[in-house]
Amino acid sequence: MSAIIGDSSTASPSFDSPRLWYPKRVLFTPSALNTPTGQQIHQRMVALNLPIEELSSNRINIFKGLDEREIYRQAKTTLAVVTAPSSSLKLNPVPPSADWQFHIAQGCPAHCQYCYLAGSLTGAPLIRVYANLPEILNNLSSYCQPNSDTSFEVSCYTDPLALEHLTGSLSECIRYFGTMPAANLRVVTKFDEISPLISLPHNGQTRIRVSINAAPVSRSFEAGTASVEARLKALRKLALPQSEGGGGYRVGVVIAPIMLIDNWQLHYRRLFEQIEKALDFECDLTFELITHRFTAKSKEVILQWYPKTKLDLDEKGRSVKYNKFGGTKYVYLAEQMKMMKQFFTEEIAQRFPSSQLLYWT
Ligand code: SF4
Repeated sequence: MSAIIGDSSTASPSFDSPRLWYPKRVLFTPSALNTPTGQQIHQRMVALNLPIEELSSNRINIFKGLDEREIYRQAKTTLAVVTAPSSSLKLNPVPPSADWQFHIAQGCPAHCQYCYLAGSLTGAPLIRVYANLPEILNNLSSYCQPNSDTSFEVSCYTDPLALEHLTGSLSECIRYFGTMPAANLRVVTKFDEISPLISLPHNGQTRIRVSINAAPVSRSFEAGTASVEARLKALRKLALPQSEGGGGYRVGVVIAPIMLIDNWQLHYRRLFEQIEKALDFECDLTFELITHRFTAKSKEVILQWYPKTKLDLDEKGRSVKYNKFGGTKYVYLAEQMKMMKQFFTEEIAQRFPSSQLLYWT
């Protein structure tokens, strides 16, 4: 199974060339092909010379008879263009990140071993993009509160930038939110191909964050993503004013999942130094801090996908946290949490005094 890690069809990454993923197989359902967005994505796929299959049914049934290893390998290298079910138009809140979450895709081509999708999505990790995008976007206004700035997170079930060169859907969202004064869009990514976003009319309504981590964590557990250096370089470009060739976006840094690795203070201090170097100018910057946690279900899926993982998934030495639905997750002990929280909040206050720390969890 470990051979699978990093086995995505990505263009070779270097510091200067963005990380781009290309599927080995592209599926279109009939209902997706019947939409203008589906047609646009189809044209992109033809132009990219990617292998397209037009299905005869809206059901995707390509994994029959395959073992788990092969299902994972095929799912992570296949892009399916589908229409989102109407049930997905009923939105769910997503505290503390945003008021609501909505989805333009589901699944991600990267191979982060701690990925939260392991616990939140079921079935094969097939990458699905939604062709009924106008319907998805037009649905959002009914969730906006009058006289308040309602926030919408688009990155809960996917990394939208990882797929942007194939779909253009994230750009469409940013343009749409640019016309919605009472709403703001929140995006988070571990990829770096931001050139399609730079000159979009976002109107200050979108905040783009990069998710980054200390070098040992990123090196060991984040196969298939852009390097942390490349993500920070992309963030700099997004934050720079448009008059200086940047995107003029509000930006953010998500440090997740924070892990108590050996010499964790040293490694996270180095990460803060990298952020300081990348953002050495005044900008609208937020931080979000998320410690490592897992559930029984996510542990089971992660061990199935990455049986040789070195992730700390030992329930012993963790605290059990209950959610309001009775579910449990394993988090660091209260004393450890306190110590880490103090370290991170002090680092941020000292190094980025005008930034905003949105939450620690
Ligand atoms: S980039 Fe994000 S969504 Fe994709 S595998 Fe990594 S953690 Fe999961």
